[in-house]
Amino acid sequence: MASASSSPSGICYLVGAGPGDPGLLTLKGKECIEAADVLVYDYLCNPEHLRHAKPGTERLYVGKKAKDHTLTQDKINELIVKLTREGKVVTRLKGGDPVLFGRGAEEAAELADAGVRFEIVPGITSAIAGPAYAGIPVTHRDHCSQLTIFTGHEDPTKEETSLDYAKIAKADGTKVFLMGVERMEEITGKFISNGADPDTPMALVRWATHGCQQTLVGTLGTMAAKVKEAGFKAPAVAVVGNVVKERAKINWFESRPLFGKRIVVTRTRQQAGVLSKKLRDLGADVIELPTIRIEEPTDLLAFGELVQDCHTYEWILFTSPNGVDAFFKMFDKLYTDARSIGGVRIACIGPGTAEKVRARHLAVDLMPEKDFVAEGLVKALKEHQNLENVNILWVRAQETREVIANELTGLGAIVDEAIAYRTVKETEDNLEALARLKNEGADMITFTSASTVDCFMDLGVPLPEGCKVACIGPVTAAAIKKHGLSLDVNAEVNTIPGLVAAIENYWKK
Ligand code: SAH
Repeated sequence: MASASSSPSGICYLVGAGPGDPGLLTLKGKECIEAADVLVYDYLCNPEHLRHAKPGTERLYVGKKAKDHTLTQDKINELIVKLTREGKVVTRLKGGDPVLFGRGAEEAAELADAGVRFEIVPGITSAIAGPAYAGIPVTHRDHCSQLTIFTGHEDPTKEETSLDYAKIAKADGTKVFLMGVERMEEITGKFISNGADPDTPMALVRWATHGCQQTLVGTLGTMAAKVKEAGFKAPAVAVVGNVVKERAKINWFESRPLFGKRIVVTRTRQQAGVLSKKLRDLGADVIELPTIRIEEPTDLLAFGELVQDCHTYEWILFTSPNGVDAFFKMFDKLYTDARSIGGVRIACIGPGTAEKVRARHLAVDLMPEKDFVAEGLVKALKEHQNLENVNILWVRAQETREVIANELTGLGAIVDEAIAYRTVKETEDNLEALARLKNEGADMITFTSASTVDCFMDLGVPLPEGCKVACIGPVTAAAIKKHGLSLDVNAEVNTIPGLVAAIENYWKK
C-alpha cells in the first residue's frame, strides 16, 4: 500500500551494476540508468555506467571510500525512501548483484515498509564473474558440482560467528568468499584446522573484470603469506578448489595483448567510446579523460544559411566526423527530405568521416588514398579535376588550420566556409579520471587531434612518469612537439583503427 505522502510516480530500482567491466551491465540495468532522475551509487559500481544517464541526472555517491562523507546504511535507506517519495525515478546502483552481500534486501525492506514502489534488478556477481575472468570456472564436470559462497568479512575468531568453518571446510566443491583479503590468515587457517588439505589450489582475483585486474594463485597453505608478500589488497574474490587448475588453460582475459597497460583517452566524451572499446577489447585498462567538448559555433545562423544552400555547390568537403554530425543536425532542422541535399558531390578527409556520411546513406565521391589530413584531401581533389571556378562548401571547425581554404582558393576554386562547431576545453566530470591518473599513473596517453593535446596541456597535470605518448597523425604530432613532449607512437594510418594498431604494435616490441 502506498502511503498517503508518497507520489505514485516515484520508483526505486535496486540495480546490480556488475563487477566492473562496462559491458557486464544487464540491459535492464542500463534502462534503469537511462530512466533515472537520481543515481545513487557506491564504491564498487563502475562510474563508467553513469554515462548512460540522461543529461542533468542527479548523481549521489554514497560509497564507502568517501571517508569523511560516508553515509551509514540507515542514512542511505532514508535517502532512497525520501527521493522515491518525492516522485523521482531513483536508480540505486550496487556493485555485482544487489542481493549477494550487497545489503539490497535491507534497502528493499525499507522501501517496502515506506510503501513506495521498487524493483530489484539482478546483476552479474563478482563471485562468479571474478573467477571466470581469471580463467577459473566455479563449477566443472571434472572437479566439482557444488559451489559455496560465503563472506570473509566476519571475524572467524569471534564466538558468535554465523559461519561454521567446520562445515565449509568439509563441504564438497568450490568455495568462493568475498571481503576476505584482510582476514586471509585466519580464514585459510580455519579451513586447514578444520581438515581441508593445505595443498588445495586457491586464487585471489583483485578488481576482477576491470582493466587493472590482478590474480594471485597459490594454495590454502600458501595464500596468506603470498598476500602479505605481494601487498595484495581488497577488493578481491577468493576461490578455493581444483577448478583453479583450469586457469592454466583458459586464462583468456589476462593474456590479451594490451592487458596490464593503462591507457588514457582524451577525446570528447561522445567520441571516446569507440577508441576506448577497441583498446579495452585488446585488454587495456582505459582511463577516459575527455579534454575537449564540441559546442555549437559562435555564429549558428551563418552556418544554417550555408547548410540551407548546400545543394547549390559542386562539392561539400567534410574534414571531421564532428563536422558531419553538426552538418546533418542542422540539415535535419532545415529540411525534411533527404533529397534536399541535391546532386552535390561529397569529399571526406578520411575513413572515420566517410563512415559518418555513409551512415546517412550518402555515397562518398572522393577520399585520399592515404594521408588523411587536409593536404591529402587537397591533393586528391586537385588530381580529380581542374578546380578553376568550382564552388566548394567546406564544413569545418571554428578553430582549424586554413590549409584547405588557402590551397583550394589558390587553385581557382570558390570556397565557402561553413563553421559547424567549436572545440572547447572539457572541464566537467573529470575529477574521477584525474584522480586515477594522479594516483595510479598511466602507461600511455593517446591524442587524436591537436586540440586534445592543447587542452590536456592546459589542465596543468604533469604526465605520469614513464607515460608514453601516442598520436593519430602528423598534425597532432606537431602539436605534441610544440608542447615539448616526446612522441613514442605515431599512427601510420591516420584513423582510430590505425592508432590502435600502432599502439598494439608498440607494446609487442
Ligand atoms: N554484491 C557484490 C558483492 C559486494 S561485497 C557482488 O555481487 O559482487 C564486496 C566484496 O565483493 C568485495 O570486498 C570483494 O570481495 C567483492 N568484489 C566486488 N566487486 C569485485 C571486483 N570487481 N573484483 C574483486 N572483488 C570484487
